[in-house]
Amino acid sequence: MIEERFDAIVVGAGPSGNAAAYTMAKAGLKVLQLERGEYPGSKNVQGAILYADALEKIIPDFREDAPLERHIIEQRLWTMDEKSYVGMHYRSEDFNEERPNRYTILRAQFDKWFSSKVREAGAILLCETTVTELIRDGAGKVTGVRTDRDGGTALADIVILGEGVNGLVGQRSGLRPELQPDSVALAVKEMHFLPREVIESRFNLKGNEGVVIEAMGTITDGMTGTGFLYTNQESVSVGIGCIVSDFAESGKTAYGLLEAFKNHPSIKPLLENSECKEYAAHLIPEGGYHSIPELYGDGWLVVGDAGQFVNAVHREGSNLAMTTGRIAGETVIALKHRGAAMSKANLAAYKRTLDETFVMKDLKKYKRIPALLHRNKQLFGLYPRLLTAAAQTWFRVDGVDKRSKENAILRSFRKGRTLSGLIGDAFKLARAWR
Ligand SMILES: Cc1cc2nc3c(=O)[nH]c(=O)nc-3n(C[C@H](O)[C@H](O)[C@H](O)COP(=O)(O)OP(=O)(O)OC[C@H]3O[C@@H](n4cnc5c(N)ncnc54)[C@H](O)[C@@H]3O)c2cc1C
Repeated sequence: MIEERFDAIVVGAGPSGNAAAYTMAKAGLKVLQLERGEYPGSKNVQGAILYADALEKIIPDFREDAPLERHIIEQRLWTMDEKSYVGMHYRSEDFNEERPNRYTILRAQFDKWFSSKVREAGAILLCETTVTELIRDGAGKVTGVRTDRDGGTALADIVILGEGVNGLVGQRSGLRPELQPDSVALAVKEMHFLPREVIESRFNLKGNEGVVIEAMGTITDGMTGTGFLYTNQESVSVGIGCIVSDFAESGKTAYGLLEAFKNHPSIKPLLENSECKEYAAHLIPEGGYHSIPELYGDGWLVVGDAGQFVNAVHREGSNLAMTTGRIAGETVIALKHRGAAMSKANLAAYKRTLDETFVMKDLKKYKRIPALLHRNKQLFGLYPRLLTAAAQTWFRVDGVDKRSKENAILRSFRKGRTLSGLIGDAFKLARAWR
């Protein structure tokens, strides 16, 4: 395909691949990036919240021309039952800062923009090119990739796999095990278009301010998962996702859940009179720390979703993708400058550096959460119902004295779950959260 040899080949032009390719190209390395989509972002799905910090470390002045929708000034966390929600809202004028911390984005536009920066930095991008397998030398070192193009091979000192959650190239090449249905979520998302002024009045916003809602509870019908609703400039993104093995066991469909979520009495008014123009489905790696595969070897590194780098508790993924991509790029640059080989021993520096960042620290902190959520479905049904019922008992003024109300709430919890069950759940949650 391409005769010349590259310093690095990057598979994928999502946030992780773009971060790696940009970092290396900017430092003067010869980089080839391969993307199976028609253009970067054409196949990518995200909520989407962009966390500025991770991108700022790669492109400090990104705010000048990146396609950003709204900066988030209000975060809502909802625990829902069929008719109500109990919410925690945090809104602050501090988020109207000069360099906002979080933005909503549209991935198709954002990925195209990021890719233009990668190409400006000097990397060569080939779209509509699927990497099919890795090429190895006699000693097993990865020396390049084979693609679906005619005679499509390319050679490099290192191959960085930023191929996303499916990780088929890594899997086929024996670098990682098959994706497990209990450690990956299937999420569906729709874009609902509304006039800008309607969004602003409906969500109490001005200018480019934005609101995001993260929701859990009976909306996932007893399965492990969450829903979301994010405001963009002239649209609202609404979606829901659950662990794949839960869908398989229950026979429920993601689209069915989304329909019910959109029709929830607390969500429906927020979408009223909107026009749905886009529908997308995608997997999210949610297995956490214990599902992280081998991240490096002779001639290869893994970044982003392909390395299972998603913090499902905080709904962070793209920032972990960009951070791992950047650090992979910096590791390669450092080895190049030293004239060192891209050997497994030398590339171990990538993992050592990652261990000192929020990426590994956070995933390690929450290492027990995925199993806890998977095995304790009462967190998605029973507790949301108890909480919303307690709120109703508490707020309804009906001539019942407050002590009797408190007792009724306690009784409802004891009835819903035994005392030992309640204590056990509190203990498990506290232990997993440490
Ligand atoms: C519904 C949903 C909501 C989300 N919301 C958020 C959010 O609000 N905030 C957040 O930070 N994260 C969110 N995430 C997670 C986030 O989208 C991912 O963590 C992030 O996209 C990972 O980036 P990546 O570059 O590793 O993978 P991807 O973005 O998946 O990019 C991989 C790229 O590789 C290409 N590719 C794959 N295989 C090959 C191949 N063999 N050859 C060539 N190219 C290939 C793909 O076409 C794709 O462009 C969400 C995910 C979903 C599904």
